[in-house]
Amino acid sequence: MSEQILRIGCHLSSSKGFLNMAKTAKSIGANTFQFFTRNPRGGATKDWQEADILAMLAFFEEEGIAKPLAHAPYVLNCCAKDEGLREFALQTMREDLQKLERIPQAMYNFHPGSHVQQGSEVGIALIAEQLNRILTPEQSTIVLLETMAGKGSEVGRSFEELRAIIDKVEMSDKLGICLDTCHVWDAGYDIVGQLDRVLEELDACIGLERLKAIHLNDSMNGCGSHKDRHEKIGQGHIGMDAFAHIINHPKLKHLPFYLETPNELEGYQAEISLLRGVFEG
Ligand code: FE
Ligand code: FE
Ligand code: ZN
Repeated sequence: MSEQILRIGCHLSSSKGFLNMAKTAKSIGANTFQFFTRNPRGGATKDWQEADILAMLAFFEEEGIAKPLAHAPYVLNCCAKDEGLREFALQTMREDLQKLERIPQAMYNFHPGSHVQQGSEVGIALIAEQLNRILTPEQSTIVLLETMAGKGSEVGRSFEELRAIIDKVEMSDKLGICLDTCHVWDAGYDIVGQLDRVLEELDACIGLERLKAIHLNDSMNGCGSHKDRHEKIGQGHIGMDAFAHIINHPKLKHLPFYLETPNELEGYQAEISLLRGVFEG
C-alpha cells in the first residue's frame, strides 16, 4: 500500500501571477495552495494569462503540487436582500467559474452568504437559487460551500443549513463542502474533544464524500463563540493535539489542507513543517 502524502499549503497572494504562487508554495514546503480569484473585496480582475497558467501547470507536474483552491471574494453575498448585490455575486461567480475551467484541477470555495434579517430559510433559498443559475452541466470545477462560524447572520453555521442548500440545488453533483476548523469550532462543533462524533454528524447530515477540502485554522475563541477570529496553529483554543488528530484522521488525511492563519510566509513555512512533523502517513 502506498503511503499517504500530506497535501498541505496556505493562502497565497495571487498578485504576481500563477507560476509565482506555485514557486512560492514550493519555497515554503507546500504542495498545494489557496488564492483569491480577484481582489478579496471584489471588483475587477486582471486577465489571467494563458502562458502563466500553462507554466504553473507544468511546474505542478514537475514538483508534485496539486489541488489549488480558488476562493471567491469575501464581499459576495448570494443571499443579499438587495437584488443588485445578488446579481453582482452571480456575475462574479459565473465569470470566476468560466476562468477556472482553464485550471483543470482547481476547486472553487465560497462563503454561502449572510441573510441580514431575512432569516436563514430565505437565505438558504436565495443561495440555492443563485447556484441553480450559476452551475452548468459542462463545468468541471467543483464548487465548495464553506462551513461558517455563525457570526452575525451567516448562513452555513450548521451542517443542516449546508445540507438544506445542497438539497435545493439541481446540479448538486457539482457541489462539495470545505470544512474550516476555526469556523466549525466557533459554530459549536467540538472538534477537540469529539472529533469522531462531529465527523459522524457531518457524514449523516451531508455525507463525507462531499467533504473536499479543509481550512486549517486555530481559533482565538472558545467553542460556540461565533466570532471567526483565526489564530496560528497550536496557539489558540483548538490546540496542536487536535490538529495532529485532524490531519491524521483516517477520514480526513487524504484531503487537501489549507492554512488561513494570521501569518507571513515565514510563519506559514513554520506551520507546514510543524504539521509535517506530526503527520504519520
Ligand atoms: Fe473562507
Ligand atoms: Fe476559511
Ligand atoms: Zn474565517
